[in-house]
Amino acid sequence: MRFTLEDERFRGRLRQWLAQNLRGPFAQLRGAGGPGREHEAHAERLAWNRHLAQAGWTCLGWPPEHGGAGATLARQVIFHEEYARSGAPARVGYLGEELLGPTLIALGTPEQQRRFLPPIVAVRELWCQGYSEPGAGSDLAAVATTATLDGEEWVISGQKVWTSLAHVADWCFVLARTQPGSRGRDGLSYLLVPMRQPGITVRPIRQLTGTSEFNEVFFDGARTEAGLVVGGVGEGWRVARTTLAIERGAATLGQQVGFRRELDALVELARCGPAGSVPLIRDGLARAWIGLEAMRAHALAVLADPAGSGTDASVLKLLWSRWHQRLGELAMQVRGAPSMVARGAPYDLDEWQRLFLFSRADTIYGGSDEIQRNIIAERALGLPRQARS
Ligand SMILES: Cc1cc2nc3c(=O)[nH]c(=O)nc-3n(C[C@H](O)[C@H](O)[C@H](O)COP(=O)(O)OP(=O)(O)OC[C@H]3O[C@@H](n4cnc5c(N)ncnc54)[C@H](O)[C@@H]3O)c2cc1C
Repeated sequence: MRFTLEDERFRGRLRQWLAQNLRGPFAQLRGAGGPGREHEAHAERLAWNRHLAQAGWTCLGWPPEHGGAGATLARQVIFHEEYARSGAPARVGYLGEELLGPTLIALGTPEQQRRFLPPIVAVRELWCQGYSEPGAGSDLAAVATTATLDGEEWVISGQKVWTSLAHVADWCFVLARTQPGSRGRDGLSYLLVPMRQPGITVRPIRQLTGTSEFNEVFFDGARTEAGLVVGGVGEGWRVARTTLAIERGAATLGQQVGFRRELDALVELARCGPAGSVPLIRDGLARAWIGLEAMRAHALAVLADPAGSGTDASVLKLLWSRWHQRLGELAMQVRGAPSMVARGAPYDLDEWQRLFLFSRADTIYGGSDEIQRNIIAERALGLPRQARS
């Protein structure tokens, strides 16, 4: 990917804006939030996100007619890189901006676009993703939550699980079975459901990190308008797949800048202590550096090639999940024995312990490593489809 002179000027403007605005009340938000730390300063980060929106720094890649800036891929990459580099806090509206919004732009009706896109751009409404269920994770087509039409409304019953940020979301995009008796990919619909209503109960799940970022969500006669189906009734599988494909877009590079910050800090820690002289740790740090360079090159190549192979995203997911998990393990080695003890009661973890524990989830969410390998085996290598039970 090449950056033009104009792109570099854009980078300069953005860098300056971030430096000038991460001040005053926003200064202490540097580094807050993100995986394993979503509980941090939520209200303040929401205010920061709205500040970003007012200055036109949200939904950059969306077309202007939907409130975006129509930014090229190169500029989206620059945005994510500079944003992560500045230490700005993790954004709270990313599920709307990066998953639901692009799905609505691709497959939503004009009414749905008019109703839902502006509040995402302005960060007035937050979204969560209601796919996984106790019996439907990797096998997403086993979704059992039902939705039945009752006059002008859908009535939804069932349970979702691992629903990230459901406790702060205003809306949820829900994959539900709308054709009674249907099985597998048929008979599913993609519904937009308001979260704040009597028929919905959200129960936080405590994670290995001691924090609660995802939840169980119970739908007990929850309601939504009949027209809030994306892509048509019975088209849920196609729409859900579209969202999954969008999930691994330009934000990947921002994620890698975050990884670089973690690696740099770990190298610094090793340099200042005895771990820096241990050959195996030195070897591990050098390998981590090389791995990150390789990932960045691969990610840029994938993003720059819209035709792609269809399995590139799976390769990328495998690369970063394994890399990040290994970094967590390396951090424990660099910290040595103290890494095994919490700083204080009841469960006060330092940033390295949190990285080590949260990165266990990297090989699960967004499609587990095993599922990515199945995709590569079947689509890239042409091996026979795995027998399904
Ligand atoms: C931090 C985090 C955030 C999440 N956020 C959300 C969210 O916001 N919304 C949402 O809907 N979901 C979310 N999830 C759920 C996530 O998508 C699922 O955990 C994931 O799809 C795996 O499903 P499962 O947990 O049911 O595991 P299972 O599907 O039961 O898998 C268990 C194990 O079996 C393996 N396995 C399963 N099927 C196969 C197969 N066919 N071949 C080989 N191995 C197989 C898996 O790889 C895994 O190791 C989140 C998960 C995590 C960890």
